Amino acid sequence: MILFGIDLGGTKIEGAAIDSGRPGEPLCRLRVPTGGDLGYDHIVGQVAKLVAEMEKASGKSRPAAIGFGTPGTLDPDTRLLKNSNTTCLNGRPLQRDLAAALKVEARLQNDANCFALAEATLGAARGRPVVVGLILGTGVGGGIVVDGRALEGRHGIAGEWGHNPLRGEDTPCYCGRRGCVETVFSGPALERFYRARSGRELRLPEIVARAKGGDEDALATLARLRDKFGEAIAAVINILDPDAIVIGGGVGNIDLLYSEEARAAIQRSMFNPVCRTEILKPALGDSAGVFGAAMLTFNPPARP
Ligand SMILES: [Zn+2]
Repeated sequence: MILFGIDLGGTKIEGAAIDSGRPGEPLCRLRVPTGGDLGYDHIVGQVAKLVAEMEKASGKSRPAAIGFGTPGTLDPDTRLLKNSNTTCLNGRPLQRDLAAALKVEARLQNDANCFALAEATLGAARGRPVVVGLILGTGVGGGIVVDGRALEGRHGIAGEWGHNPLRGEDTPCYCGRRGCVETVFSGPALERFYRARSGRELRLPEIVARAKGGDEDALATLARLRDKFGEAIAAVINILDPDAIVIGGGVGNIDLLYSEEARAAIQRSMFNPVCRTEILKPALGDSAGVFGAAMLTFNPPARP
């Protein structure tokens, strides 16, 4: 079976044609610039152009359904896109317009859900029944996959743990609330914490490197990450009790998150004396977006 997956990013739109029998070797992988500043119709046109190029490069006709990873989420009630940082997509019927432009069924889910779906079906958490995929980078997002199906949820926000509040935190968040996970241990939040203590403006990888050299402010930044991560992950585990949690994004590269120390921090807020949940690094790298989008072919919408 031939699958087409498209990852609609803020700067580029990437597409892959995949043979479901050999998902590790895509038939083609192509990209075009998004050109978000040229507006909504331009983006839909770019996708149509990309799909025509994918047919040519793969030698396969487009399948009856194409999966799309999008910035933002399709609102289950209005069927309009929302919460996208490519702002010209917000409030637009992107699913309907892509389906009309491409003459296929368009399956849309947000990019964090596609990441989770790819890692749960083809990547690090392959074979685990209940998987949470978290993006921990500039922003914080997440998706939940149960038996190979990415959950959408009543409001289309299943897995959005980045805007859960943390105890004792009060930093204002762009979402209008305070003390969200995203304001505490996203990459920029950790960099802000380090700068406030040390007066030095450093990027996260440098802060991690300095911690190895004994920099006390860097060590305090990582201790904060460990403790707050533990509290936030325990909330996910107490409610969903997943088999595995895969952590993508720049902050997800920090080895501390996979250590016994971090596991102890999780257990401090967890409703069980031991934590057996696997905490995994992603296996698919940059490919997770398009692979997850392609896997939406097997993920019919819960509310058609
Ligand atoms: Zn928030």
